[in-house]
This record gives sequence, structure tokens and C-alpha cells, in this order.
Amino acid sequence: MKVSDILETTEETRFSLEVYPPKTSDAIGSPRIQQHLSAIFDTLEHLRRHNPAFVSVTYNPEGKTRTTSIPLAAIIKQRFKVESVAHLTCIATPRAELAKTLNVLDYLEIDNILALRGDRPPNFVPQPDGLEYASELVRELMRHNRDFCIGVAGYPEGHLECVTETGERDLDADLKNFKKKVDQGASFSISQLFLDNQVYFDFVRRARKAGVDIPIIPGIMPIMNLRTLDIIKGLCGASVPKNLEQKIENHRNDPKEIMAIGIEQAIHQCKRLMDRVPCIHFYTMDRWEPTGSIIEALR
Ligand SMILES: Cc1cc2nc3c(=O)[nH]c(=O)nc-3n(C[C@H](O)[C@H](O)[C@H](O)COP(=O)(O)OP(=O)(O)OC[C@H]3O[C@@H](n4cnc5c(N)ncnc54)[C@H](O)[C@@H]3O)c2cc1C
Repeated sequence: MKVSDILETTEETRFSLEVYPPKTSDAIGSPRIQQHLSAIFDTLEHLRRHNPAFVSVTYNPEGKTRTTSIPLAAIIKQRFKVESVAHLTCIATPRAELAKTLNVLDYLEIDNILALRGDRPPNFVPQPDGLEYASELVRELMRHNRDFCIGVAGYPEGHLECVTETGERDLDADLKNFKKKVDQGASFSISQLFLDNQVYFDFVRRARKAGVDIPIIPGIMPIMNLRTLDIIKGLCGASVPKNLEQKIENHRNDPKEIMAIGIEQAIHQCKRLMDRVPCIHFYTMDRWEPTGSIIEALR
């Protein structure tokens, strides 16, 4: 079933989940890959009783999950009976291979694709016939005229690379680029994570004013440890409220307390999102306990 149809028929706020698959650089059968797979399956087993609207599966832009991403999306749908969304990135998806990838998705009955550019590795060299931006991938997917539901990423605080001459995030330019993806045919969006709901509500308001009318699902990732805090600030470029950062700093040597603060913060955010959004998307990091505690608290 298409995510857009699920969201349209939803009466109360649903939950959705993101998992990331093992990298193919870890050999099948190696203890590392087994551990990772069992963490993913534990996550799905524990969280599926909350009736997730869908589970999305990330895709590594350097191609390191090429052979694991789509099969995992298929397992989620067939074994766990939950709708899945396969992420695809421009960087590891040559235009010429797209038709074959779509055939595989079709065969596996995967109806949803999250079309992304992917983070460019430091030594990234664009391919002559490659796709540069996510909007081009959406256009290319639509050009194939298949019946997939296509989602895209949205950035409440602006994308890290979209900056003005003085180095500040250029929210207007980034919104225009977001709208290009919608104009090309995207029918839902998942937001980058944020720790201050106001930035999400402001983004939705600006997007609506610009004519974007697709659902914009808020992305939530609880701070689980100091590493996730670094990812949130660095890779995702989300701002951390001063009082929250101070609270964590006060407990920097107490991992249990940091996890508790992270969960409490996410519950606080979700309570204020419930009933105002069709769905809340959790970046699970392949761990069920934090997301499970948050959903339990909301029920
Ligand atoms: C919900 C979600 C899921 C994600 N899943 C994955 C994943 O599975 N794998 C992965 O590798 N990464 C993933 N990412 C990260 C994402 O790939 C990176 O943030 C990447 O840097 C940008 O991807 P995008 O699809 O937003 O790119 P785009 O929409 O193409 O935007 C990238 C940058 O280019 C600018 N831009 C866009 N179009 C134009 C244009 N025509 N001219 C000039 N500038 C332009 C934008 O403003 C932005 O700064 C995810 C992010 C989110 C929010």
C-alpha cells in the first residue's frame, strides 16, 4: 500500500520507523552481520505491536548496502507484514540501472521509495550521466511511469550545504529546492530530525505558503548517548536547545541518565506533535528500547 494512501486514511497520529541495514562489507555469516540483523529483527518484532504505518530502510550512498537494503525492505513487508519504504540515493543509483531496480522493487511488491541525493563522500566525483539532486531522481522515477509512491527529505532548519554568502543556512533557497522535489511528483516527505518543535511547525507553515501540500512527517530521534548527540549536531545539522545540552553535559559520564534525558525530551516533543500530524517517524538506529519507551509513554 502507498504511504500517501495510508496517511490519507489515518484518523489518529500513527508511528513509522527507520532502520538501517548491514553493510555488504561485512561478510554474510560474520558475527557482526548476524548481530546487526538480529538487532533489526528485534526492533521490528518489539515495535510492530504499535502498528507502525511503515518502516523505511536506508541506503548507503557509497553503495555499501546495495545488496541488503532492498531485500530488507522486502523482508519487512513479507515477514513482518508492515508496509516498507526503500530509500534510494542518486549517488549509488546510476540512471541506467534505475529501470532494473524498479523491476526488482515491483517484483518484491514494494510500493514506496524515498528519493534522496545522499551525503557526498569527501572525494565524490559526479558521474557524467549521474543524477545530481534528489529532484532529478524524483523526475527520473516519475518518467518511468510506474505506480510507486515517492517520498523525499525535508529540512526544517535548512540543509547544511544550502548556505548564503555569509555562511548562514539559506532557508528560502532550500525551501525552493524542497518544492522542486514536490513539483516533480513526490507525494510525501519525512523531515530531518529536530529537537525544537517550533522549527518543524515554522517549516510546515513556510512550505504550505510556498504551495507544498504533501504530508510532511516529523522525524524524531531520541538522544541515546553522546555519539547520537554529535550526529544530531554534526551530520544532521540540527540545533540543540541550550538547556537540553547543559542537562546532558551535567551527566556526561552517566550513559543511563543521558538516555533517560533523551527519551524524556522525545516524549515531550511527541506529546506536542500528536493530533497535529498524521504520523511521527522514529529514527530507531536499530534499537527498539528508546523508541518503544517513547511510544508506550504516548499511548
Ligand atoms: C528522512 C531522511 C532520510 C535519509 N535517508 C538517507 C539514506 O537512506 N541514505 C543516505 O545516504 N542519506 C540519507 N539521508 C541524508 C540525505 O541524503 C542528505 O541530507 C543529503 O545531503 C541530501 O539529500 P536530499 O535528498 O535532501 O538532497 P537534495 O534535495 O538534492 O538537496 C541537497 C542539497 O542541494 C540543494 N539543492 C537541491 N536542488 C538543487 C538545485 N537544483 N540547485 C542547487 N542546489 C540544489 C539543497 O538545497 C540541499 O542543500 C536522509 C535524510 C533524511 C532527512
